[in-house]
Amino acid sequence: MLYADIIVDISNENLDKTYQYSIPAHLEEKAVIGAPVIIPFGKGNRTIKGYILSVSETPKIKEEFIKPIESVPESGLAIEGQLIALAGWIKEHYGGTMNDALRTVIPVKQSVKATVKRTIYLNVSNEEGVIALEEAERKNYKAKARFLKAVVNKGEIDYEVTVKQLFVPLSTLNSLAKAGIIRIEENRVYRNPIKTIQKEEKKIVLNDNQQEIVSSVLADYDLGIRKTYLIHGVTGSGKTEVYLDIIEGVIRHGKQVIMLIPEIALTFQTVSRFYRRFGDRIAILNSKMSKGERYDQSLRAKNGEIDIMIGPRSALFTPFQNLGLIIIDEEHEGSYKSEMPPKYHAREVAVKRAKDVNASVVLGSATPSLEAYLAAKNGEYELFKLSERAKGATMPDVHIVDLREELKNKNKSMFSGLLRELILDRLDKKEQIMLFLNRRGYAGFVSCRSCGYVMKCSHCDISLTSHNNGTLQCHYCGAAQTMPKVCPKCGSKYIAAFGTGTQKVEEMVKREFPQARVLRMDADTTKTKNSHEEILAAFANGNADILIGTQMIVKGHDFSNVTLVGILAADLSLYASDYRAGERTFQLLAQASGRAGRGNKPGEVVIQTYQPDHYAITAAAEEDYEQFFSKEMNYRKMLKYPPASHIMAVLLVSKDEKKVEMAGKLLSGAADEWLRRTGVREETDIIGPSFANLAKANDFFRMVLYVKQQKYDILTGLKDFLEEYRLVSSYFEAINVSYDFDPMNGY
Ligand code: ADP
Ligand code: ZN
Ligand code: ZN
Repeated sequence: MLYADIIVDISNENLDKTYQYSIPAHLEEKAVIGAPVIIPFGKGNRTIKGYILSVSETPKIKEEFIKPIESVPESGLAIEGQLIALAGWIKEHYGGTMNDALRTVIPVKQSVKATVKRTIYLNVSNEEGVIALEEAERKNYKAKARFLKAVVNKGEIDYEVTVKQLFVPLSTLNSLAKAGIIRIEENRVYRNPIKTIQKEEKKIVLNDNQQEIVSSVLADYDLGIRKTYLIHGVTGSGKTEVYLDIIEGVIRHGKQVIMLIPEIALTFQTVSRFYRRFGDRIAILNSKMSKGERYDQSLRAKNGEIDIMIGPRSALFTPFQNLGLIIIDEEHEGSYKSEMPPKYHAREVAVKRAKDVNASVVLGSATPSLEAYLAAKNGEYELFKLSERAKGATMPDVHIVDLREELKNKNKSMFSGLLRELILDRLDKKEQIMLFLNRRGYAGFVSCRSCGYVMKCSHCDISLTSHNNGTLQCHYCGAAQTMPKVCPKCGSKYIAAFGTGTQKVEEMVKREFPQARVLRMDADTTKTKNSHEEILAAFANGNADILIGTQMIVKGHDFSNVTLVGILAADLSLYASDYRAGERTFQLLAQASGRAGRGNKPGEVVIQTYQPDHYAITAAAEEDYEQFFSKEMNYRKMLKYPPASHIMAVLLVSKDEKKVEMAGKLLSGAADEWLRRTGVREETDIIGPSFANLAKANDFFRMVLYVKQQKYDILTGLKDFLEEYRLVSSYFEAINVSYDFDPMNGY
């Protein structure tokens, strides 16, 4: 006899509230995960609809109390069923519980809180407004004048428009309000992020390369051919324009589209391009929205009020009834992989969801992931290339500077001779500069130059970072302490911050180029809600000559006046302790270089590095993806790393150091035995268990075990076995075990 766990209200917050029913023999074939079922419910046995979440052979209560499923309606899977089935696949493919998987795919209903719409009113007579405007113009207060021009004669203006389209800083609004010239009022409305943008007629005519891709994809679509395409297009080659035309074609079929964009690139600039094209048939998701707002957006999708959902990873689960296309821009981005269980990869899930509902997938990147490019080479995906920038702008000139040589020449500053020269040149020409500090896998840690002692967080076992205000902070748990005067270990006073943070770069820039106006964008300067947009807007408006930043500044921004990009320490990300370090370095350098010369002035890039010969750096400088791909693939093959093989990381976490160590050993022993029994031990590598690089976090100890194997199925089989093994051993009660397939980061 088979039994099904059935959920009756999937918009309820208690997703784990299920009821068990038996499956009559004649329904066994149709009673799969996600199938809608009709069941007798409650004392009165009224018939209601539910969905199957899982099927098992074990009854949870006495069999005579279990009622049978009445019927399984023929009508294909409704959207809820599709998503539940997808959750089932995710659980199977990535580990974690069904509940975790359901929470990932199903938007949960919550009372939708109305958000506030703010309007700015002119609080003085129109004449007085005009006088204020003239004064602002005379004094050359640009933002103030821009704002007043927009509000006089009209009397009112939308707050969002003011901040996001006119780029008026909040400080300007506050001072105007203080002076009594304006007042800001709030009215409650449901949220539609930027509906003030008007739909416009399409103006851009695609070039031949772009048109060929659009025609080819849409021709397939008309013929009913569904597949996955990869567009490998250099930065600025016009991929977004291609997406827009493909979307239009697919919508014409009455289908709906999901467009994934990494959160960091989900800027006003990007989103407004979609609005101008498709008007308000679009909804947007982002992580700053409340659960209520997100639910609201997914309801609009389900009800067919929109055709396009734009958002980061989680937008993939938009409940479109009639999904026709999923686009993933910047397909290589690490943020497409979930860091929480189930640790799914949006690219893989997109391909699966598309297959289930007969939709197509378009992936795009200037620096495709090895996974996607390999699939394209193998013919699994269809590959398109865009090798030139769309506006005719040429790719920048890239120079590599060997920092070791600089030191030999007694240049101890963070700017090489060449970079300094070019910065001065651009400042002179009134062109803009971006200085990029590669901080991945690295922190401005504090150490003793006498004994080598490194200051670490006592909860997390990672090095603390020094901040300008004299404190040391743990970027992992947030704990802070004051900077010690002497080394806690040897008492020497030569204890100091090592390396470079963005704050330090800003200081140095100000010292060496006092004439430059400088903006800095990093985690510290973007803590408040709109600060990210404000900094970018200020830079776009020419309010600064130099923008200094971390990873954040390299994504998706199109500043036409930037003609120089300096990468201060290109190789730092090479030292990160995981197999994707080279790939990530190549991607960062290529993306950063891509910021130079986007307008009609040609750009230059200076890559400063201690490893000028590393292939990730030389290939990035030569913009030679193929070269990078083949060298990196060799390395992955040699060491059996994805995509040449698959890896399953098993992470064990506990407060008890001894227990977690023991549990790691038990689990690896069990894995070894299972692999032998299955006859695949020879071809499988088990690495560890050992303490993770981050051996302790928030007072929890972390062990990791890696298993390498060519066949994904064998790894999921092993995972299922380990899950069962863990349940029967009381040893694992206080230990959290989670899985990560083909991890993006080291542990
Ligand atoms: P990508 O997404 O590949 O970085 P975009 O689609 O953002 O490139 O295009 C880069 C710039 O070139 C944008 O300003 C865009 O408007 C412009 N552009 C794209 N295609 C064309 C075209 N066919 N003709 C003129 N300008 C174009
Ligand atoms: Zn010391
Ligand atoms: Zn900490």
